[in-house]
Amino acid sequence: MLPFIRSDLAQFTAYKPHPSSHTAEPVATQFDRLDTNESPYDLPPELKEKLAWTYQQVIETNRYPDGGHEQLKDAIAEYVNESANLSSSRFTAANISVGNGSDELIRSLLIATCLRGEGSILVANPTFSMYGILAQTLGIGVVTVGRNETNFEINIEAAQAAISQTQNPPIRVVFVVHPNSPTANLLTAAELAWLRTLPEEILVVIDEAYFEFSQNTLVSELAQRPNWIILRTFSKAFRLAALRVGYCIAHPEAIAILEKVRLPYNLPSFSLAAALLALQNRQLLLSSILQTQNERDRLIAALAQYPTLQVAESAANFLYVRLRQSNSDTKNLTLQSLHQQLRSSGTLVRLLSEGLRITIGTTEENSRTLERLKAAMENYKF
Ligand SMILES: *Cc1c(COP(=O)(O)O)cnc(C)c1O
Repeated sequence: MLPFIRSDLAQFTAYKPHPSSHTAEPVATQFDRLDTNESPYDLPPELKEKLAWTYQQVIETNRYPDGGHEQLKDAIAEYVNESANLSSSRFTAANISVGNGSDELIRSLLIATCLRGEGSILVANPTFSMYGILAQTLGIGVVTVGRNETNFEINIEAAQAAISQTQNPPIRVVFVVHPNSPTANLLTAAELAWLRTLPEEILVVIDEAYFEFSQNTLVSELAQRPNWIILRTFSKAFRLAALRVGYCIAHPEAIAILEKVRLPYNLPSFSLAAALLALQNRQLLLSSILQTQNERDRLIAALAQYPTLQVAESAANFLYVRLRQSNSDTKNLTLQSLHQQLRSSGTLVRLLSEGLRITIGTTEENSRTLERLKAAMENYKF
């Protein structure tokens, strides 16, 4: 251990990007990468050409990027209003902050709320792991509660108890995903009712990374809830995971704080240009959503044929698949071997402690997933 490093970082396990692609075992060379919930579609060639033109003709690489993101924030505000059927003046650039992926915004939110021992965070597992990981890197405490096994609803009683009992520091932020990853469900009515009761000194972060697939948003409620912030990203439906652009929608006072905390030139000019181009061409880019939703239904129906698999409904571009088995030891082994079999035959999916998360890919990829899963199921004679 390096003696100048904070002692709490010694035991720290970092986020593993593409956890399934690093392995010494022999695997198929060309993977169907269905483990990180990206869009299976690259940008269409005509948009790549436009972007290349912008890079060649407009972007001066010797100049710093637009550090205020004004043009992009205007375009985002317009899209946000449209996405919730709100009047075009409802949200403006003053309600938007842009980050180098939503990950950066999550970190900025933690810096702005919990540092200096002023707060801990609350998450309900399983959920997006970055909230806890980023909090730990900042020495911020993470309180976890569980979920209902059937509908994945947060254990509200436990969450409420955690809020009453956690002191020095108290819980300052509650992170929820709408729809949740990996369980793919939207916030339930009871969860929403509970979130509405949280006092103003607790920030509620609602991560709508998968909004375009669910078409269910809470932005219209932001006006009544000054302690709510909504996060979204260009990494999923907008096909820009490589370029790292996320944004948040909030009350202008909260935005002003985030703008103070962020690094001055947090987004490269190329990423800013790409996000703007994606928004200008949103009809074209988002036209693939219906296809993904149809494929999602097809996969759910096909997986429902296996009595040992338990496939949850999904409001996102991925499925959460569990095993109907009571013994947790054999369940874990079976999950691991299913994951391994899929990987050896060329499909990467995400292995979690209670299930597999499978991203909806192209029609061809999904058909291969079904074939490979069928073979794996026959091998293991479930
Ligand atoms: C994929 C994902 C994001 C996106 O993060 P970026 O840093 O914008 O790529 C955010 N939240 C959740 C829950 C996600 O699954």
